[in-house]
Amino acid sequence: MKFKSVTVDPHVAEPSVLKHFPYYSLSSQSPKFSDYRQGKRHLFVAPKKGELFHICASLDTRYICCSTHVISHISNCPFECTYCFLQNYLTDTTLTVVADTEAIMREICYKTALQPWRLFRIGTWELGDSLAVEPLNKFAVDLVRRFRDLDNCLLKLRTKGDAVEPLLDVEHGGKTVVSWTVNPPEIIKREEIGTAGLEKRIQAMKKVAGAGYPVGLHFDPMIMFSGWEAAYKRLVEAIFSAIDPEDVIWISIGSLRFNPEMKKKIENNYPSSRITAQEMILGDDNKFRYPRPLREEMYRLLLSFLEEVGADQCFTYLCMERWNVWERVFGRCPSSIGHLDYLMAQTVYERFPQSVFQKPQKAFYMALTY
Ligand code: SF4
Repeated sequence: MKFKSVTVDPHVAEPSVLKHFPYYSLSSQSPKFSDYRQGKRHLFVAPKKGELFHICASLDTRYICCSTHVISHISNCPFECTYCFLQNYLTDTTLTVVADTEAIMREICYKTALQPWRLFRIGTWELGDSLAVEPLNKFAVDLVRRFRDLDNCLLKLRTKGDAVEPLLDVEHGGKTVVSWTVNPPEIIKREEIGTAGLEKRIQAMKKVAGAGYPVGLHFDPMIMFSGWEAAYKRLVEAIFSAIDPEDVIWISIGSLRFNPEMKKKIENNYPSSRITAQEMILGDDNKFRYPRPLREEMYRLLLSFLEEVGADQCFTYLCMERWNVWERVFGRCPSSIGHLDYLMAQTVYERFPQSVFQKPQKAFYMALTY
C-alpha cells in the first residue's frame, strides 16, 4: 500500500513507527477530504485520545448478537469493498491509526479486569481491516504479544488481506485468533476491490494455522449472484482442502445488508456494482436484506457444504439475524445474547483449551444485560 501522504501527530507516543515512512509531515491535524476514496490514500498516525475499547457498536437486542468487544484504533481502510458501511459512516475519512499500544492496553486491562470471569473476544476491525495497513502491522504484533498474558481476553484480527508474515514468529500463546472474511472469487473481484484474492487468503490461512493460531472464518456478507450456490460450495471446498477444520475456532455467516442511505452511496461510489439491484426488503432496523426465505436458504446451503467437508464441528453462528432465523437454520437458538456469549466461551474451552484460562460459568453469562 502506497500512501499519497503520511501525517504524524507530534504527540504519538511510539515514534519508532516513523522508520517505516521515508517521508511524512508533522501535524496534530489530520488532513481532511470530502471524498471517501481520497481519505483511503492518506495515513494519519494519531495519539490515543479518549476511550477506544467498547462492545461492538452493531449490537442490537433485536438480534442474537455475538457481543464481541472491539478496539477502535483503526479508522478507514485502504481496501474498497462496494458494500463497506464506512462509506456512509465516517465523517473524517482520512485513514487513521492510533499508534499507542501501551495506552490501549492500559484501557483494556482496566476494563476487562472488572469482569474477571468473562472471556472477552476483542476485535480490531470495527472501523477498518486489522492487517491492511502493512507498515503498521507492528502494532498488531505488539497487541498479539500483549494478549498472550491477558488471562480473560482473546484478540481477534480480521482481514481480507494476506499480510500475515509479521505474525508468524510471534509468541501468541493461542490468545489471538486470525480471521478472514471470505467470498467466492467472483465476488472478491467485483465487490472487494484491492483485497487479496481467495488463493492468497487461503495461503495466508495455512501459514497462521501452521504457526498455531486459531483461525476464524466469516462468510459474511454472502451475496447473491447467478451461480452463487456452486460458487459457495467451491469456496468451502477450497478453504477446507487447505486447512483442517480442527484449526478453525468459529465460523460466522451473514448476508448483504445496508441502510437506504448506504444504498445511495454504493450506487454513487460504485456505479458498476450490481449488489443493490436485487430484490431486498427494508426491515424495522432500517436495513435492506434479501427476503428471509432466501437468506435462510443461503445459510442452510452453506451449512450443508460445511458439513460435507467435516467443518460442522466448528462453532457456527449467524450475524445480525433474529431468533426465528436461527431456529429455521439450525433448528435451535441461544436463549439470549449472554447465552451465545457463554456458548462461544464454552466452545473455546473445549476445543482450544490453551486459549482460555478457566471453565466458563454459565450463570455469570446468563446474567449479562445489554
Ligand atoms: S475490508 Fe472491511 S473495512 Fe476495508 S473496505 Fe472492505 S468492508 Fe470496509
